[in-house]
Amino acid sequence: MGEGLSIKQFVTEVKKGNISVLEHTEKILSEAEQSNSQYHYFNLIAREAALKQAGEVEASIKTGRNKGMLPGVPLSVKDCICVQGIESRAGSKILSGYEPLFDATVIERARAEGAIIIGKTSQDEFGFGTFNTNVGIGFEIPKNPHDIKRCCGGSSGGSAGFTALTKLTHASIGESTGGSIACPASFCGVVGLTPTYGRVSRYGLIDYANSLDKIGSMGKTVEDAALLLEVIAGYDSNDSTSLKQEKDDFSKIEPSKLKIGIVKELFENCDAPVKKECMNAIKKLGAKTQEISLPLNAKYGIAAYYIISTSEASTNLARYCGMRYGLHEKLEGNFNEYFSKVRSNGFNKEAKRRILLGTFARMAGFRDAYYLRAMKARTRLIREFKEAFSKVDVLANPTMPIVAPTFEAIEKLTPLQQYAMDLCTVPANLAGMPHISVPVAMQGKAPVGLMLTADHLQEKKMIQAALAVESACK
Ligand code: GLN
Repeated sequence: MGEGLSIKQFVTEVKKGNISVLEHTEKILSEAEQSNSQYHYFNLIAREAALKQAGEVEASIKTGRNKGMLPGVPLSVKDCICVQGIESRAGSKILSGYEPLFDATVIERARAEGAIIIGKTSQDEFGFGTFNTNVGIGFEIPKNPHDIKRCCGGSSGGSAGFTALTKLTHASIGESTGGSIACPASFCGVVGLTPTYGRVSRYGLIDYANSLDKIGSMGKTVEDAALLLEVIAGYDSNDSTSLKQEKDDFSKIEPSKLKIGIVKELFENCDAPVKKECMNAIKKLGAKTQEISLPLNAKYGIAAYYIISTSEASTNLARYCGMRYGLHEKLEGNFNEYFSKVRSNGFNKEAKRRILLGTFARMAGFRDAYYLRAMKARTRLIREFKEAFSKVDVLANPTMPIVAPTFEAIEKLTPLQQYAMDLCTVPANLAGMPHISVPVAMQGKAPVGLMLTADHLQEKKMIQAALAVESACK
């Protein structure tokens, strides 16, 4: 028992004593270990810690003390989220050996509800990528569960891949800066939910770009992802950007056919088959629709995003110098020589490219032309979204303009062409708006995802619409 159950069903069975938490944990750990040699979803599998936790949860259930929302539910966690005592490297060699002394707030909250942390999932180094192929030095690239010649999408590729692969009850905590939850969810055929910026605490997240980073949930169904969001969301005094927002019952939301805005420019720029499947899904839903134009977001989104995100990333990465966290080298030469040696050996190519880009954009003399202009553009893009939400409840567009590409195709793309693939996901991320990718169809062996975006703090509407899309596409 235990296969094919939603989190809610699983929890009911666990509480009745029909599923042993220890046995289920053992089963999913074995699956994670066995599949890892082929699929590479995990940078680390926390066997010992997970079994210890499972034993404690099991004991608390037997004595009737467990009142949690997720007793025994296995969670995998993106590598950039700190888990106490478990090596957390954000997919980078430069953080080798870094074992946080504390749990990120999201981990603390999930554990308090009885969830079991089974391991750290593969990602692009620090989140720098769209295909999970920009992994750190010495890391493996995860393979798509539907077709191993294709990528999982990034940067939360391991989380999406394993969520799709396992038949056991499981969900994952991911992170998105510019689309890193929605993109891999779409490529792997699972649900990826990114909340409003500030809804979920970032305390304990290894930063990519602070004004953009959001922790979110990934699951096999909208209900699973919503339930996990309910657990991890809420105000946290440890994160100064955390919103003082009441906790919502995201897991109790019912489907509803709300008014959908079809984003013209984002449909226009997608591959024909993707466009067709997404339009079909909206038709099947049978809700009221209206075409919405977001010309500024379509034209300036990518440029503004890559200037802001690399600027913030380049300052964030300055802390990795071989003195505090992770990788150390033999202390030789002056500080400059030592720092250069550590960074040359610790960062892979894309991280170096982003440090250069971001440092350039923030340089005296260029700052006004790039960084400050991108920040102004960002405000305009948010305004454009706000206008759209005065007309419709949620916006819809394909999550990605293409289905999961093959590794061979990715190799032929220039960095700029790779960045351009984030066209549909970047606007909602820049605006800090909640969005969700729901699988709607298969194109051969490759899943297609539809992305729904709602206004700030309107997760409820987004989930209502997502549940309706999900059931229309079953
Ligand atoms: N593909 C985007 C980037 O490379 C988004 C990554 C993310 O959300 N972490 O920056």
